[in-house]
Amino acid sequence: MKKPHPNIADNWPAFEHAHVWHPYAGMPASPVPLPVASAQGVRLTLDNGRELVDGMASWWAVIHGYNHPVLNQALRDQLERMAHVMFGGLTHRSAAELAALLVELSPEPLQHVFFCDSGSVAVEVAIKMALQYWQARGEHQRRRLLTVRGGYHGDTFGAMSVCDPVTGMHHLFQGMLPAQLFAPTPDCSKDADWDEERIAELRLLLERHHQELAAVIIEPLVQGAGGMRFYCGAYLRRLRELCSEHNVLLILDEIATGFGRTGSLFACQQAAVDPDIMCLGKALTGGYMSMAATLTTSEVAGAISRAGPFMHGPTFMGNPLACAVACASVRLLLDSPWPTRIKHIEARLRRGLEVCRDLPGVRDVRVFGAIGVVELSEPVDMAWIQPRLVSRGVWLRPFGRLLYTMPPYVIGDEDLDRITRAMTEVVAENADR
Ligand SMILES: *Cc1c(COP(=O)(O)O)cnc(C)c1O
Repeated sequence: MKKPHPNIADNWPAFEHAHVWHPYAGMPASPVPLPVASAQGVRLTLDNGRELVDGMASWWAVIHGYNHPVLNQALRDQLERMAHVMFGGLTHRSAAELAALLVELSPEPLQHVFFCDSGSVAVEVAIKMALQYWQARGEHQRRRLLTVRGGYHGDTFGAMSVCDPVTGMHHLFQGMLPAQLFAPTPDCSKDADWDEERIAELRLLLERHHQELAAVIIEPLVQGAGGMRFYCGAYLRRLRELCSEHNVLLILDEIATGFGRTGSLFACQQAAVDPDIMCLGKALTGGYMSMAATLTTSEVAGAISRAGPFMHGPTFMGNPLACAVACASVRLLLDSPWPTRIKHIEARLRRGLEVCRDLPGVRDVRVFGAIGVVELSEPVDMAWIQPRLVSRGVWLRPFGRLLYTMPPYVIGDEDLDRITRAMTEVVAENADR
C-alpha cells in the first residue's frame, strides 16, 4: 500500500520532530531541536529570527565561522569541475593537494593518508591498519587494543569498544564489542608534577599483555566527549616510550584536538610525540562537510601492502568537494594568526570562567587552548538549562556534569564574554534552584 506524501508545507518542524532521529536522542527528541534558518560568522539565526552565538563551533568543527567566503568559493570552484568521482581506480587533484598539506603538517613519520567519511570511520580504519600490520608481520595473536578510561573515539563498533566502558554504554552492546584493555584515566595536569606512578597501571598492562596487543589508542592531551579532561604531555611522552619498548603501535586520535584547538596544530606536537597512526576529522573541512583522514608511517603502510591490499574503501572516499574545502580550510588556518588567537581565547576563557569556581555545585573549572569547561557536581538538567542559555543568546550543548565551550577561532571578545557570562549565570541560577 502506498503511503500518502506527508504534507509538511505549513509546519515542517512538527513533521521533523515526529520522524527524524537526532544524536543520542529518543524519538521524538527532547528537548525539541531548534530550527536554524541560516548561519554567519559565529552566529546561528533561528527560524523565529533569534540570533545565537555558537559556543560549540558545531561540535569542534566550524573553526573559521559559518558561511565563510573563502570556503564557499573553494566549494563553488570544485563544484564547477565535479562534485564527486569514485576513488577506486580514479583520482583527482584536490585529493593530492589535501594529502600534501596533511603529510607536510603532521608529525614527520606520517607519510600516507587514507581519506574517510567521518571520525568514527577514521578510527575503524586506524584499528584495521594496526590489525593488518601485525597479520602481515605474521603476529596473528596481536588482536587487542589498550586504551584509557574516559576516552571517546566514535560510535561505530570498533570505535565504541575503546570508548569509556561506562559513558560509552558498553552494557547496551555486551557480547558484540571486542573486549579491550583499559588503564585508568590519565591524571596529571602539569609536566612539572610528573611522577612515574601516574602511568604505573598502564605500564603493567603493557608488560603483561604486549604480546596480544596490536596498538594503544588515546586522545592526546584532551579527552573530549568522554569527559572533557586534560592531561600532561609527560604522560603522552612516557606512553610513546612504553609502546616503542614493547613493540606496540601508538594510535593518536586527534579528531577533536587537530587543527589548532589546543594551541599547537596537533596536540601531540606540544608533547613532541610522533604516533604510528593518527586520526583527523571534525575541523578538517572547517565544519563544511563530513570528512576525516587516517595517516600512517611508511613502516605500517609498507608492511600491510607487501602482504596485500588494505581492506577498506568507502563509496564517497576522497570526495572532491570535501577535499577541496578541507584544503581551503587548512590554508585559511595557516594564513591566519591562529596561535595568537588561541592564546587570547584561552586567557579570556580563564578570566571569564574563573568566577564559577566559587559557585556552589561547581566541582572544577578548567581551560586549555580554545576549550573552556565548568564541571558541576551533579548532571545538568538539559530541559532546564537549554532555554536559559538560549534566552541569553548563546548556543551550548552541555552533557552529563559538563557545561563547556569550544568556540570558532574567529570569535570576538564581546561574543566570547557573552558565552562565559551566560555559563556563569546559568551555573549560579542552577545552584539556587
Ligand atoms: C568526534 C570524535 C570522534 C568521532 O567522529 P565522528 O565524525 O563523530 O564519527 C572520534 N574521536 C574523537 C576524539 C572525537 O572527538
